[in-house]
Amino acid sequence: MIQLSEVITQLKSRNAKRIAVQLPEGLKRQAAEISRALKEEGFDVLISGDACWGACDLSLDALEWADVLVHVGHTPVTPEKNVIYLPFQQDIPLEILESAVPQLKKYASVGVTTTIQHAHQTKAICRWLNEHGVNAVIGEGSSRTPLDGQVLGCTYASAKNANAEAYLFIGTGVFHAIGVSLATKKPTFSLDPFADGILQEVSADRLLRKRFAQIEKAKSAKTFGILLSSKSGQARRELAERLATLNENATVILIREISEMQLRNLGFDAYVNTACPRLALDDQSRFPVPVLSPAEFEIVLGKRSWDDYVIDEILP
Ligand code: SF4
Repeated sequence: MIQLSEVITQLKSRNAKRIAVQLPEGLKRQAAEISRALKEEGFDVLISGDACWGACDLSLDALEWADVLVHVGHTPVTPEKNVIYLPFQQDIPLEILESAVPQLKKYASVGVTTTIQHAHQTKAICRWLNEHGVNAVIGEGSSRTPLDGQVLGCTYASAKNANAEAYLFIGTGVFHAIGVSLATKKPTFSLDPFADGILQEVSADRLLRKRFAQIEKAKSAKTFGILLSSKSGQARRELAERLATLNENATVILIREISEMQLRNLGFDAYVNTACPRLALDDQSRFPVPVLSPAEFEIVLGKRSWDDYVIDEILP
């Protein structure tokens, strides 16, 4: 549910007149309603129509027109002046945890993790599990994930901070749960509150087999494009520049939207992704050549062993 009242108070206290609003793809349909509500309060409104998947991609160019950018759906990943964040919260009924209790009780401690929609409930989830005999704990957040227990596809700091024997991820899909499992190397369970509500242990084996195949394929590459994002919270310039020094045929490419067509047009034999870490893991099947993570590139070059595989995270 999107609550505008607090944002309106903040906008008025800043004496803002012109407001730009940015929504992620899943919430864009609410643009007209938000615009109407803000106009009723006397603001001029501009909606950012570009695609957006996270607070890593702020529409800062809109601030050339607006006094303040209201970014809906996420917590901040980088400190920005004149940006107000309006996270999207979605309550889950705690009873869905019941089916998970017998399995989770087997572990000395269970770290509770979730995405931003449910992160306001982590304390309540933890309390409920404690009352039902599970030693649930919550790890402290980080500058990219300010809420305790919150994880992003690029940052699992709160999971690692929980230092638990096993982990529970509550949320949609298994991507984040696999990320927690790879980042912590501990048994990890996922519970989708909006699907069947059945606890399942996740395994990263299938993903790792696919990544291994891409690493093997990239070993015959003669040229490497090091993808450096120009998005506000994805730009890892130092990392891209360091990676480019590892191979004489590696070149840094500054790029905003990474698409199959762009990679094909650029024509490198393989790419190394320093932008959103999900890209290489989620979208590889769309790309014409291997798109490696930084650690995978080091494995290709013989500077890291496969046993030392780590998931790519954007760390503070
Ligand atoms: Fe999400 Fe990727 Fe942005 Fe991280 S970098 S916040 S995973 S879109």
